[in-house]
Amino acid sequence: MLMKNKLISDLKKTLPSSFVLDTFEERYAYAQDASNTKKIENLPDAVVFVENTEQVQKIVRLAGKYKVPVVCRGAGTNVVGACVAAHGGIILNFSRMNKIISINKENMTAVVEPGVVLGDLQREIEKFGLFYPPDPSNLAVSTIGGSIAQSSGGAKSFRYGTTKDYVLDLKIVTADGEILKTGSNTIKNATGYNLNTLFVGSEGTLGIVVEATLKLIPKPQSKKVLMAYFDTVKDAVKAVNALIEQRIYPATIDFMDKNAIQTVEKFYPANLLIDKESALIIEIDGFECSMKYQEDIIMNTLKSCNASAIQASHNEAEYNKIWTARRSSMGACAKLKPNVTTDDVIVPRENLEALVLGIRKICEKYNLDVCMVGHVGDGSVHPQIPIDYNDEDEYNRYKLAKSEIYDLTAKLGGILSGEHGIGVVKRDYIGKVVNSTALDYMRKIKKIFDPDNILNPYKIF
Ligand SMILES: Cc1cc2nc3c(=O)[nH]c(=O)nc-3n(C[C@H](O)[C@H](O)[C@H](O)COP(=O)(O)OP(=O)(O)OC[C@H]3O[C@@H](n4cnc5c(N)ncnc54)[C@H](O)[C@@H]3O)c2cc1C
Repeated sequence: MLMKNKLISDLKKTLPSSFVLDTFEERYAYAQDASNTKKIENLPDAVVFVENTEQVQKIVRLAGKYKVPVVCRGAGTNVVGACVAAHGGIILNFSRMNKIISINKENMTAVVEPGVVLGDLQREIEKFGLFYPPDPSNLAVSTIGGSIAQSSGGAKSFRYGTTKDYVLDLKIVTADGEILKTGSNTIKNATGYNLNTLFVGSEGTLGIVVEATLKLIPKPQSKKVLMAYFDTVKDAVKAVNALIEQRIYPATIDFMDKNAIQTVEKFYPANLLIDKESALIIEIDGFECSMKYQEDIIMNTLKSCNASAIQASHNEAEYNKIWTARRSSMGACAKLKPNVTTDDVIVPRENLEALVLGIRKICEKYNLDVCMVGHVGDGSVHPQIPIDYNDEDEYNRYKLAKSEIYDLTAKLGGILSGEHGIGVVKRDYIGKVVNSTALDYMRKIKKIFDPDNILNPYKIF
């Protein structure tokens, strides 16, 4: 207790006192993230706001002095418990460190602080005709720092890749408060080890991002979304591969199963066809003159794969309506029971059908509802399972189902996360897909960067 008081007093001497929150109510507000884990037992000792790199360095050095954890927090939208303070310590809130430092049209790069909200970056770079594709479905709130730490993807990763493909350089505050630069300001870099990819997806366990140089691409001139319905899951999955074989590379190939369609339509009506077994949401983009050409090929392919109905957007409002419906699936699912869990398993595309049908079977076996959505162009599926944490029996059934879903994923040659990360929620299962030697090396890497285990400890493994 004495040490905790000293820590708080040192924090208040280091930062303006309004930047340090330490009442129970203030700390309680940071005890959860969107993982919506069962118990709230993650109270930090303090939450601090930082405005610049020097402040971050000072806080990290204080954490090192008192040997307490430092857990960075963007918008708290990660779904794996990656920013909960499960071992107390300091939460670093980056919402004040949210400047877009520069946008360089010629180099097609942006330099930003970690608290920049993705949607704000999108809006600013659009003014220059540029585009930053990673979109973890929460553009209005998710931050650059959080999406770098989780290597976030989203619907457009099918064509454009995920966050790791857009990070050119990171300015990192290390566990001992020093500054490390991971890359360069150039589009290519074969100069030594690739530290960018080591830090992207490291969930704040190796260092703290205080600045990022991001690669941008030209903004496509036009975009359009098609929603194709199928009477079987098999046909929808077949259509995914058939589309790819046409050498038309849509920006997205997303998926909703019948439960997801019906649940969204129940709570957020969008004229979805609720009698259909599954749907694909396909976005095409590119030059205006190429749109009709792409659309025709896609329409023909979908029809040849037994699509029983196709809705297409003809304007911005219709485009937004379809995407809002897809993005509302977790919110809608959350209305079915007091709690909702979401997952992020991914397999080679050839095993997609086995994954989707297998997850459904496992949930039936354990008498659980499941709404399935996913970025199926990548082979990625998000089963969303509504449950009541107060129902012990249901919770135990859920845990068994989750473990079996991971076993199935591993059997199909897949992994436990394509874009959400591991955090605390999947930590105990990582050994199902990552071999023990690889895990040993990951632990050694963690030890090199953070010998005292103060940076977001006990996440990932
Ligand atoms: C309904 C819903 C749908 C979603 N859909 C998708 C999806 O389609 N694709 C997808 O990829 N994700 C998705 N997500 C997950 C989530 O939106 C992303 O993980 C998001 O990028 C996290 O950003 P954040 O700012 O909220 O980070 P937070 O949740 O605050 O933090 C995430 C991690 O980043 C670390 N961190 C934050 N800032 C820093 C920093 N400066 N330096 C080092 N580490 C830092 C934190 O410690 C934590 O480990 C979804 C989430 C929800 C709730």
